[in-house]
Amino acid sequence: MIATESARLFDRASAVIPGGVNSPVRAFRAVGGTPRFMVRAAGAYLWDADGNRYVDLVSSWGPMILGHAHPAVVDAVRAAAGQGLSFGTPTAGEIELAEEIVRRVEPVEQVRLVNSGTEATMSAIRLARGITGRSVVVKFAGHYHGHVDALLVAAGSGVATFGLPSSPGVTGAQAADTVVLAYNDVAALDALFAARGSEIAAVIAEAAAGNMGAVPPDPGFNAALRQLCHAHGALLILDEVMTGFRVSPAGWFGLEQVPADLYTFGKVMSGGLPAAAFGGSAELMAYLAPAGPVYQAGTLSGNPVAVAAGLATLRAADREVYARLDAAAARLAVLLDEAMTAAGVPYCVQTAGSLLSVLFTDGGPVRDYAGVQATQTWRFPALFHALLERGVYAPPSAFEAWFVSAALDDEAFEVIAAALPAAARAAAGAAEPA
Ligand SMILES: *Cc1c(COP(=O)(O)O)cnc(C)c1O
Repeated sequence: MIATESARLFDRASAVIPGGVNSPVRAFRAVGGTPRFMVRAAGAYLWDADGNRYVDLVSSWGPMILGHAHPAVVDAVRAAAGQGLSFGTPTAGEIELAEEIVRRVEPVEQVRLVNSGTEATMSAIRLARGITGRSVVVKFAGHYHGHVDALLVAAGSGVATFGLPSSPGVTGAQAADTVVLAYNDVAALDALFAARGSEIAAVIAEAAAGNMGAVPPDPGFNAALRQLCHAHGALLILDEVMTGFRVSPAGWFGLEQVPADLYTFGKVMSGGLPAAAFGGSAELMAYLAPAGPVYQAGTLSGNPVAVAAGLATLRAADREVYARLDAAAARLAVLLDEAMTAAGVPYCVQTAGSLLSVLFTDGGPVRDYAGVQATQTWRFPALFHALLERGVYAPPSAFEAWFVSAALDDEAFEVIAAALPAAARAAAGAAEPA
């Protein structure tokens, strides 16, 4: 496939934007080659600046569950934009979006809208510290909660892709109140609470990990988090920025029914525009200004155009859409299984709801970050580029989940089915770096 126009744009971008991108993983550093500059998207497809078409298995890193440029969402955005882009006042749309979230996720009685998942987790942690009067936050290795300073320690997503233990610029003081534990290790959490329970404000976890590949919680793990937090007066924050409104109408909560104290949402509920939220019981949320003392604010929070996109997306995401997402993930998993088995490459397809990832390993399912790091991630670039060449856009990192959309139809699956055998063979034939 020709990528001359993308290459030209990447050169130009690299002169004025660090690394040529506004979010690191977009730069293809983990897989090599030229990042594709997209110009248009519709349904299951993306088109790049050279006119190539791709079946999209990234879905803008999660938001586009309905597929791209869904007519109901585009119409809602156009209508909202025509009424004015931002007022800096409350609007009725914000109530409707909050009501939709509260209706879907039972433990959430109130939400505050913000602009990104990062802001949601940052604010939820401030709130948890404000409520408990404690400082320590516990997170799990390989979990990503946005680029909040205190949480950029042993983080997943791009931090994992680039192999950073944490980031320069995060001070010792900012990281000192963060304790990192291995995922799915209840005994370690038990021991930590026994030693430092009275200092712990909150445990934050992805409701199911999706930023080191899809690594679901062991059965009972989230329930153990809840039990330990409550036994020691700490709050449980389940980060559903990735899983929320994707893996079920009520996100991971809908699958597992383990209630958290605070939740964070983003991605799907934004419809593809900048919007996110955090929420919990009315009692806890009452600590937020102006009702309570914990400050939190945003010039563009609850932006009417973003709210319209999110609301239209959630309203269109009915049972049939969730059934299509589950069916698409299952169909993709079968195609991956067939191709990897035929190519004779060691692999494991892992899922967490409709999130999916391919790990190259002889071992069975992987349960934590060390397990993911021990896989043959060096096979991934060959898989990625063979798919890209054949018109399939997979995430450009072994540490990211694959995101299906309800727009993936038979035609799109034919493209995937035609591309996968050669891509699996490319992965099988990849050379381990010396
Ligand atoms: C994407 C993500 C975030 C950060 O959201 P942004 O909108 O990129 O700031 C936080 N938590 C999880 C689990 C995510 O997947």
